[in-house]
Amino acid sequence: MRLMRLIFLTLIVILMMGNAAYADNSDITLEDIQEGLVFCREFPVSLKVDGETVVTDVPPVIIKERTLIPARAVFESMGSQVKWNEEARLVEVGLGTSTVQLTIDSKIAFVNGVQVPMEVPAMILDDRTLIPVRFVAESLKCAVDWHDLSRTVILASPEINGNTTISAISFEEDSERYRIIVQGENIIEGVKSFAYDNPYRFGIDIKSAVLALKEDRLKMNNDIIKSVRFSQFEPNVVRVVMDLEEKIAGRVSYSPEKESLYIDFNKDQAKIYEELGEVTLDGLDVVDWRATEKLVVIDPGHGGKDTGSQAIRDGVEILNEKDINLDIALRMNRMLQEAGIRTLMLREDDKSISLYERPALANAATGDLYIGVHNNSSENPNANGVEVYYYSKEQESDYGIYTKELAELVQKEMVDTLGLFDRGAKSDPAYAVLNKTQMPAIIIEGAFLSNTENLKLMMTDEFREKYALTAAKSIICILNKSVND
Ligand SMILES: [Zn+2]
Repeated sequence: MRLMRLIFLTLIVILMMGNAAYADNSDITLEDIQEGLVFCREFPVSLKVDGETVVTDVPPVIIKERTLIPARAVFESMGSQVKWNEEARLVEVGLGTSTVQLTIDSKIAFVNGVQVPMEVPAMILDDRTLIPVRFVAESLKCAVDWHDLSRTVILASPEINGNTTISAISFEEDSERYRIIVQGENIIEGVKSFAYDNPYRFGIDIKSAVLALKEDRLKMNNDIIKSVRFSQFEPNVVRVVMDLEEKIAGRVSYSPEKESLYIDFNKDQAKIYEELGEVTLDGLDVVDWRATEKLVVIDPGHGGKDTGSQAIRDGVEILNEKDINLDIALRMNRMLQEAGIRTLMLREDDKSISLYERPALANAATGDLYIGVHNNSSENPNANGVEVYYYSKEQESDYGIYTKELAELVQKEMVDTLGLFDRGAKSDPAYAVLNKTQMPAIIIEGAFLSNTENLKLMMTDEFREKYALTAAKSIICILNKSVND
């Protein structure tokens, strides 16, 4: 029986490895896996978590000197959350403010939204997901040790309280801005910003932080900031609040090592905001002042050698999806900027961006909302209409932006203004740009290049302008709502 099972497993592994389209573990051979399984059956590996032995239904296995363990049993015993996304074959382990995402058979992990290469990928053996223990544990800030004599992996969960001690809060200015500097003794993470009217205030909450300051405020004397107050708002949350003279939202950024956090107030912002008026030339509402520092990442789908779908009629190439996506995205970008919104275009010309680079770039820029601009295609020439994809992530509440609501709004507006067939707003956790972005994210699939009627429409200026305008209008509506609770 044992041998049968091994042969069966082997077959699965061969099948897994055969799919080179998304597997990149080709340097791990079948022999490596077989050798590991046989050796660890003879010399089993044990696990200790915070001093307790943890017995797992599938034993740990060592492949190419990397120990793989079943994720759930081990990390849930630490109070960590382990999630499995079947469609995307994605394992997500979260602990404190850290998250690790592993795709089965892929040697690229996402640690807190940043791409990191691994030596051995997560894999499925015997119906259980095994993940490389050292890589994941260290990414979650756990201590990892190996006791050779007893062949034991020793794990210690990180200290729960006070990942960061806030040791200083200071102020500086140059000709363009006022800057508040929050200094941590460790990496500052899990920051949520907020702003209020009457009186004007802008603030941030830092999760997993402890305030180690004698004072509770910074006295200010300038035209924008009246005072800066800070407190241990909750046992694990430090709150910093700026009382303001003007309606100016602060812009949050970090030092490269993320131990310092900056809140910048642009000295010209009040004037800039005043000049915006109430509505733009296109008739869009100007964004609420409290949302002016939110960053919308616009991703024109495909690009460079990746054309996306193509409309080819009688052997002649009429339209590439990458080109119409870019055209629409550029219009959307201009409209959002005119409404006072900060934007980041992932490409502004015909360049290639890989699938994983897209969420990684959006995460690195600490975007607040990601919009994928696409158009559709089908084998069936009759398929037509608009659809919008979303994936409701837990952290959406931190942003106050709910993608189901946004997707349904965009969907409805696109149907109403363009008269397109309504294919619906759809939840789909499988898209990398939806499940690997830290911020709320949607993908708009405007119309079908493969449908004659849709294509005719897509060739017009009117379609592209209305697509952009409709999306921009919905984005502004949702951003304004996010600061209005
Ligand atoms: Zn596309």
